[in-house]
Amino acid sequence: MSGPRVGVLALQGDTREHLAALEEAGAEPMTVRRRSELDSVDALVLPGGESTAMSHLLADFELLEPLRARLAEGLPAYGACAGMILLASEIEDAGAQGRAALPLRGIDMTVRRNAFGRQVDSFEGDIPFAGLDDPVRAVFIRAPWVERTGEGVQVLARAADHIVAVRQGSVLATAFHPEVTGDRRVHQLFVDIVNGRR
Ligand code: GLN
Repeated sequence: MSGPRVGVLALQGDTREHLAALEEAGAEPMTVRRRSELDSVDALVLPGGESTAMSHLLADFELLEPLRARLAEGLPAYGACAGMILLASEIEDAGAQGRAALPLRGIDMTVRRNAFGRQVDSFEGDIPFAGLDDPVRAVFIRAPWVERTGEGVQVLARAADHIVAVRQGSVLATAFHPEVTGDRRVHQLFVDIVNGRR
């Protein structure tokens, strides 16, 4: 049996690591740059990168409203770092007017962009993650944190007292980058969600 077709938004950011991680987790990954590709996937990963640039590329490639619509219809999605910012319903410190990061509203939450980055550009640590037996090595790079979660949003992990991983229905987001560590449990969780197993 073949795995679910999981797209990785490939306008900007670290797509390659996500494609590899998804394949190892049993999905059939593919890059998504156009509308026809977005229409054909069962689920989508929004990678790390720069949320302001990605927002405007989404608009330029005429993917912004179609992606919002698919998320509203229940497309399973996983956003890491910049991807978490994009999946938010509200973004704090979204960036300069006209170039600001644009919320896709996949999860009812407020995310502060570059929140950890104001204190320290990047850091990593092992953090407990709900549903996983052992802690996850979390790599934060100019990372956001979650400042508000709406009803129905499950907090999966915290770092330094801030919320850094959440799930609402079949949409998952982490402020950190599991794709760079070789530990596939977060991608496996997402593929299991896509398959309706978790
Ligand atoms: N600071 C970036 C942003 O605002 C996110 C950084 C990352 O994805 N590693 O989008």
